[in-house]
Formats: sequence, structure tokens, C-alpha cells
Amino acid sequence: MNIAKEINEIKQEVIALRRDFHRHPELGFQETRTAKIVKDYLTALELDEVQTCSGTGVIGILKGGKPGKRVLIRADIDALPIQEDSGEPFSSENPGVAHACGHDGHTAMLLGAAKIWAAHREEIPGTLVFLFQPNEEDAGAQIMIDDGAMEITGKPDAIFGYHLWANFPLGKIGIHPGPTMASSYYFKVKIHGKGGHGGEPHGAINPIDAATYVLSAIKSFHTLEQDVFQPTVITCCMIHAGQKEIIVPDDLEMEGSIRCLHEGHEAVHARFREMVEQACKLCRCTCEIELKCGNSLLNNDETLTALALETAEALVGTENVITKNVAMMGGDDFAEFLQYGPGFYFFIGMGDPAKGTDAHHHNSKFKVNEEALPIGMEMQMALVMNYLNQ
Ligand SMILES: [Zn+2]
Ligand SMILES: [Zn+2]
Repeated sequence: MNIAKEINEIKQEVIALRRDFHRHPELGFQETRTAKIVKDYLTALELDEVQTCSGTGVIGILKGGKPGKRVLIRADIDALPIQEDSGEPFSSENPGVAHACGHDGHTAMLLGAAKIWAAHREEIPGTLVFLFQPNEEDAGAQIMIDDGAMEITGKPDAIFGYHLWANFPLGKIGIHPGPTMASSYYFKVKIHGKGGHGGEPHGAINPIDAATYVLSAIKSFHTLEQDVFQPTVITCCMIHAGQKEIIVPDDLEMEGSIRCLHEGHEAVHARFREMVEQACKLCRCTCEIELKCGNSLLNNDETLTALALETAEALVGTENVITKNVAMMGGDDFAEFLQYGPGFYFFIGMGDPAKGTDAHHHNSKFKVNEEALPIGMEMQMALVMNYLNQ
């Protein structure tokens, strides 16, 4: 199988698929149209199995003609609640919803790869599992797992994922070993004080006062306590309290996230709870703390990373492989699948200021650079084949 030649032959089909998904974006767990197209497409390829999971998740299994390992490849399929302003002729027809992260491209790329592999199934030494995941933007992976996705996929020997990346120039591939995307947990803190008269604060207990101590404790934690070589970010993004300038409120709510680009987030979470509780106690308040997992730490397997580096260098040349400043405090719930086997996730550069494809992800002007699609497909397919053939 000549991967580059095969991709070139179906390039226009992949672009057409991606434009169709782009025109009809759907929010997390509402991707019914997208899932139907994916399912019908995989069914037409006569895979060994095509099943749905969690409503809009789709899993296809292709058994190769030769014995070998089992590889899972994941693509995310959901869009975002954003009004598109990209100016593309195939812009979203769904008001307030847009593919502003590139998941339309991910879905089309994996469908194209599945088509090529299905046509060459006799040559494949192993089994390929294609997993199309809903709701990446809000922790859809764990829900799919809870709904039995891994019973359908079987235990994978390796798990691969990727993201089109506007921050890297077109033609580049970003690769990083170990912790690559931070774990992210969302916190919600409710602080309870005692309401009263603004002119007699001593007769009340002001939860706003406690919140300032909480924020100050977080700052000290960042600067004085946490090892700077264990990147950790605690960001408060919402505070709600009070309704009138002369009334001390009873309660306050603060929300934000805790991100760790290292193992051992449990210790950070425990310290966070302690700081909040102590700050509230100091101000005579009580509190309730909720922490919800957004995504786990995405930790790239070292051996698979080495294979990916070799693959990428052969494909785009050493000078086009980015290995510095790849890791980030943002997350991807691809990480949840890594509980089931070693995995590797890479970034496909697509930034080109002349074409406007360097607009940030989740921005209304975000655009996918379609020239990156065949590059990403080739990298993904070559990596999987190198893995199976080693
Ligand atoms: Zn996103
Ligand atoms: Zn994304």
C-alpha cells in the first residue's frame, strides 16, 4: 500500500466530507447527523463491525488479513456553541453552532483513512479500531467509556489521537513525550457567611471577605509552594455574590479550574481543599467544595513517541518536526482512553496567516487549512503501519 498515493486519490472526497460536517455542526451528544454519516460510511466499507455507543459515538472494527496487534484510533466529532464568522462559503448553517476547533477535519481524516485501510485489509497485520467520539469539548470520552465503549473496542495494544493545530505552521508536526496536555478539574466552591447590614458589617459574616483570602492563598500556592517544574495552574473564572450595595450577602459561589501538567494532581487537589477550608474558617465562614473531572493528564507513551518521531522525520523532514513548546495547560479527553493502554497524540500544523488559518481554536474566525488534511492522514496512517509492522 502506497499511503501517499492512496491519500492523494481520495483527497477531494475527504475535503468534501469535512466541508459537509462543517456546514452542519452539532453540539456534544447531539451529533446525530454526523454520527449517521459516519456509521453509513463505515458500513459501506464492509468493516467487520460497526456499532454505536452513547447515542452519537460510533466504533468501527477492521480485522486485517494477517495476525497482529490491536490499534485504536480516535477522532472527535463535536462542534462548539459559537457563531461562525470565518467567511467560508461552506460556513455553518446551524445558528450559534460552529466547528471552531477542527473536529470536522478529524472526523473526515479518519473516515478517509478507514476507506484506504479497508481496501487493503489483506495487507494489515493486526486489527484497527476506529472510534468516533462525541462531546470532546465537555468530557465525552469518559461517558463513552462508562457506556461500554471499551467492551466494544476490545483491549487495545496502542491508542492514537491527533489534533489539527492552528498555532503551528502548515507542514509542521508537533510531538512531545510524556505529559503533553494538562489534567483539568473544574471546581465549584460555595461559601456560606451570614447576611446583614452593610453599615454594620460586624453583625454579619461576609463571604466576599473569605473569597479574597481564598484567592490570596491560591496566589501564594502558585508562587511559593508549588514546584515550578511541575506546571500547575489554578484559575478562578467566576464569582457570584450579592445583589445590593447595602446588604452583606449570605453566600458566595466561585468557579474555575485546576490544571496539572504532571502526575500527582491528587496532592494539588487536597491542598486546594485545605486552603479553601482554612481561608473560610479564618473568616468565620463555612464552605462546600465540588471538583469535577474535565479531563485527565494526557501522557504520551515514551516508546510510541520515539516511533512517532522517526515516522514524522521520514515524512516531513527533521526540520519540520516541532518538539519544543508543544506541551500545554489545555486538555483533551483523549487522555481517558489511556487508562486502557499506551497511547500517543500529536499535533498537525495548519497555520498560514495569508489564508487566515492561524486564527485561534474556539475563535469565531477559526478556519481549517485543508492542505493539512493529507499531511495529518499520512502521518497517522504511516505511524499505525510502522507500529503494526515492527
Ligand atoms: Zn476545542
Ligand atoms: Zn479540539
